[in-house]
Amino acid sequence: MNDDATKKYICVNCGYIYDPAQGDSMNNIAAGTPFASLPSEWVCPICYATQDMFDPLD
Ligand SMILES: [Zn+2]
Repeated sequence: MNDDATKKYICVNCGYIYDPAQGDSMNNIAAGTPFASLPSEWVCPICYATQDMFDPLD
């Protein structure tokens, strides 16, 4: 079991939280998709920040 598979990430720009348990329906990301497995073109669905703008959420 890898913690990263369920770890939430927060967009430091707008506060949006990516939750792997929820996925991102706005971007056709299936529930259960770890943050690390998001496609490279995925950006924040709220403010379009790139993935390097996200921090792990404990
Ligand atoms: Zn954002």
